[in-house]
Amino acid sequence: MNLENKLVQTLGKEVKEAGNQELYAALLAISQDQADSRRQPEGKKKIYYISAEFLIGKLLSNNMINLGIYDEVREILKKNGKDICEVEEVEVEPSLGNGGLGRLAACFLDSIATLGMTGAGIGLNYHLGLFKQVFEKGLQEETPNPWIGTPGWLRKTAVSYPVQFRGFELQSSMYEISITGYEGRTNKLQLFDIDTVDERIVHNGIDFDKENIEKNLTLFLYPDDSDDKGRLLRIYQQYFMVSNAAQLILEECEAKGSNLYDLYDYAAIQINDTHPTMVIPELIRLLVNRGMEMDDAIAVVSKTCAYTNHTILAEALETWPISYLKQVVPHLVPIIEVLDDKVRRKFTDESVYIIDRNDNVHMAHIDIHYGFSVNGVAALHTEILKDTELNNFYRLYPEKFNNKTNGITFRRWLLHCNPELTAQISQWIGNGFKKDAMLLEKLEKLETDEKALNRVLEIKKDNKKQLARYLKETQGICLNENSIFDIQVKRLHEYKRQQMNALYVIYKYQQIKAGILPDTPITVIFGAKAASAYTVAKEIIHLILCLQEIVNKDPEVSPYLNVVMVENYNVTLAEKLIPACDVSEQISLASKEASGTGNMKFMLNGAITLGTDDGANVEIHELVGDDNIYVFGASSEEVIAHYKKRDYVSKDYYEKNEDLKEAVDFITGDEMLRVGNKECLTHVKNELLNKDWFMTFLDFEDYVEKKEQAFKDYADRKKWAKKMLCNISKAGFFSSDRTIGEYNRDIWKL
Ligand SMILES: *Cc1c(COP(=O)(O)O)cnc(C)c1O
Repeated sequence: MNLENKLVQTLGKEVKEAGNQELYAALLAISQDQADSRRQPEGKKKIYYISAEFLIGKLLSNNMINLGIYDEVREILKKNGKDICEVEEVEVEPSLGNGGLGRLAACFLDSIATLGMTGAGIGLNYHLGLFKQVFEKGLQEETPNPWIGTPGWLRKTAVSYPVQFRGFELQSSMYEISITGYEGRTNKLQLFDIDTVDERIVHNGIDFDKENIEKNLTLFLYPDDSDDKGRLLRIYQQYFMVSNAAQLILEECEAKGSNLYDLYDYAAIQINDTHPTMVIPELIRLLVNRGMEMDDAIAVVSKTCAYTNHTILAEALETWPISYLKQVVPHLVPIIEVLDDKVRRKFTDESVYIIDRNDNVHMAHIDIHYGFSVNGVAALHTEILKDTELNNFYRLYPEKFNNKTNGITFRRWLLHCNPELTAQISQWIGNGFKKDAMLLEKLEKLETDEKALNRVLEIKKDNKKQLARYLKETQGICLNENSIFDIQVKRLHEYKRQQMNALYVIYKYQQIKAGILPDTPITVIFGAKAASAYTVAKEIIHLILCLQEIVNKDPEVSPYLNVVMVENYNVTLAEKLIPACDVSEQISLASKEASGTGNMKFMLNGAITLGTDDGANVEIHELVGDDNIYVFGASSEEVIAHYKKRDYVSKDYYEKNEDLKEAVDFITGDEMLRVGNKECLTHVKNELLNKDWFMTFLDFEDYVEKKEQAFKDYADRKKWAKKMLCNISKAGFFSSDRTIGEYNRDIWKL
């Protein structure tokens, strides 16, 4: 049956007469069917990607693209006076992730299925997500972000396992979301939950009884861990996730014929950051329960598990007091002690012990000793791990360390989010780039083609208009379509240095006040959630919201400069913002951003990066060359040296640089205090003046200079369009298909 007839049949009425909700439901049903029909027999070996987060975004359009029916559906809808974008709005974005790490997991699942590999994602079915961000009187408020029960892809299965905690047992329920590969197979994202979770215990924003595990276990991703109860809840969640994973994996491998001594011939387990680390002792425990000798179990598990490190920030490397583990999962503690004991017998260097002298368990140490692979997520990051952060481990196990530079799925971050550019690229170089992203290099030859350059600018302009319309409709925000869209969207963290961008805004505001006007108007756009317990991050949001109020309402300034902070930055918003971006802000303190993936999405959509030589920016820089990126700031070596010598004093920079001093003083000046909270603003300012742990002041001068240069270059439209085309043409390396190919070649070996 043709697609239109099928749609009419599923709807039970003519397309013209159907509402968006009905159309969504019908398209969902049709896509689910097609996805199911693409389930193929599993290969012998399967990759299990375990992650606390999967930031998957809305799925309907993406899945229709991957199933090859998107264009046809769009035309059928259009013919009947319907808009596919409005139908898509019906779907609520699943709240299963926080930031880059979760989005990476989602891109990887897409590529695993696209490349035809047998694989599954394993995680938790959070009911209320991280939180939904709303701005109230210039401050971030957190509210629940419900999504389950709305029309969508989540399906409950009959699969269920018992999970033992101290003093009680919980029975899990497994849910599934289909992962469709692009012209590839269908895999599953498997999310564990319990039936007794009760959303009604949440009140007053996102407060809830943290001790009522049966009712709260899967309510939220990353429950506030600023107190003991929150930390214990995280351990409950992590163990619940991995115990289910371990039981599922053993069951599936045995069903395929594994005798468990050959587990690694049937399963590769990728541990995405340390949250799933307890899968190692849990698997050992289950194998021993089935009669295996402890040493054999350890050897088997060590050949099955691989670990991805995502950060060098000390506070993000998890450690749990052993007493907490005893409280939650006492049956795992003897195994962790055995693992630690083996390390102690083999090595004298205390820094590699699993249990330290304060009885804290270092989760990453378990992964490194008892996994067969340790990978960083960009070339620079892996080098820093080997040379500094994990050097003691690298010297023990050089063969385990490897780099896998992150990637993004081009289906979502080009084909879906930027259809106009995609269609144009297809016209220029054919459709091959959709499967082989390196073919984008063919665009290089157009860099001298006047018509092509104008077309690239025209598409950008259209995307800016669309973003303006969307933000007007959904958030009541007005954008100046003729301004430069300078965008920084990512989680709020001091190391990502949104505060430096805010200081630039103040600098520019004062310049304009003094009559020094930019060639082209500028709109600085922010989007970021701050972790609920991260005070300074929330204060930086307040700072930005105050600037938005002052700058946009100043009639002398607002024709030249605007500040916009979008509410509740998520994948849906990212898909609208990124295609409309001119300047991509990737300004982390060098050495601190492991990779970044936002940087890749922006580049692919023709934004020019303004960034430090950090994470994957380094690789972007190498690919496009000095002329097609704006790089500034101290190098990672210089930064690491400052930390080592403890010789960075932010006040020295403040005293030396008049522009910086004025900008910093502005934070607590009269204008700000008229709109903002004195205590909050004073605290941010003092943090910068007295601590500035992420060296904002160190790079400020160079940042301003390079940013001014970028804005100046923007006025030469042809020159700018060349830079855009160069960035698009070199983005192929950052396809997650390339990344997953490397994981498979070097680690999983499916
Ligand atoms: C890509 C993405 C991120 C990661 O952005 P970085 O700039 O790499 O930190 C975070 N959130 C969302 C919604 C994303 O799509």
